[in-house]
Amino acid sequence: MKVLRTPREMHAFREELRASVATVGLVPTMGYLHEGHNSLLRAARRENDVVVMSLFVNPTQFRAGEDLGSYPRDEKRDLAIAEGSGVDFVYAPEPGDIYPGGFATKVEVEGLTEVLCGSETSRGPGHFAGVTTIVCKLLNAVDPDVAYFGQKDAQQATVIRRMAEDLEFRTRIVILPTVRERDGLAMSSRNAYLSPEARKRATAIWSSLLETESVFDTRGLEAALQAGRQKLESAGITPEYFEARYPGTLDAADGNSGDPILVAVAADVDGTRLIDNILIEPSNPRSKS
Ligand code: AMP
Repeated sequence: MKVLRTPREMHAFREELRASVATVGLVPTMGYLHEGHNSLLRAARRENDVVVMSLFVNPTQFRAGEDLGSYPRDEKRDLAIAEGSGVDFVYAPEPGDIYPGGFATKVEVEGLTEVLCGSETSRGPGHFAGVTTIVCKLLNAVDPDVAYFGQKDAQQATVIRRMAEDLEFRTRIVILPTVRERDGLAMSSRNAYLSPEARKRATAIWSSLLETESVFDTRGLEAALQAGRQKLESAGITPEYFEARYPGTLDAADGNSGDPILVAVAADVDGTRLIDNILIEPSNPRSKS
């Protein structure tokens, strides 16, 4: 496994690969790897000749006051895990090389980025402008045939799909299911912040989503959301949002169309911001009015 530290090195290696290699898979990460990342790496390994993992804590997707400074980092461990998962190249640039003096470009997806995590009361639309700009740069630098993302960040997946289509990237965007701890908590690098007590309470996030799913089938969407929110609040967690949206457009869902519904939640658990979601497939839409 080779570690590439600068865009220039990345571009040079990509040129070398062009002649000899059929397909390149990219897994973008901010590091502090866990099984969620690993599932993406394994899929990339199975499906491509060459696997590139990017390792970059992207400063522009953090708002002032968020956890950029304390975001968990352990490059040595990440490199060992990546090697174990069969990664060929790790692209681990420095912020100064990605955003050199004079950098002035922003890639922005409208609409989809103004709800849920993008609303002003959450991380704000600037968060996704940071995400789409860095993903755009990574797709340009690595020029992968396939790029892998997790359903854990459902809104990010929708926004990236939109960007890739709108900007005619020829990279295929693949979204893989959320990997969970045994008790249901979605794996996240930020879980490392949780005290044992907060870690236990955080399981209410997934159980509140399961509750929403099960109530939906019998009592419809409004009652389902209410039951989910209640379950979360009874664990002492007040959600930043707990909303039902259609996954492709992120329009508010009314539950009457029979289309799959994304229920997405963000919540602060003892100072740690966690997100999760569930995709509900209405089994009998006509009974849901
Ligand atoms: P991050 O390092 O948190 O930016 O995540 C890098 C990629 O891994 C993103 O595409 C995430 O959606 C994905 N990811 C993070 N956590 C999980 C998880 N628990 N299951 C599946 N994918 C995940």
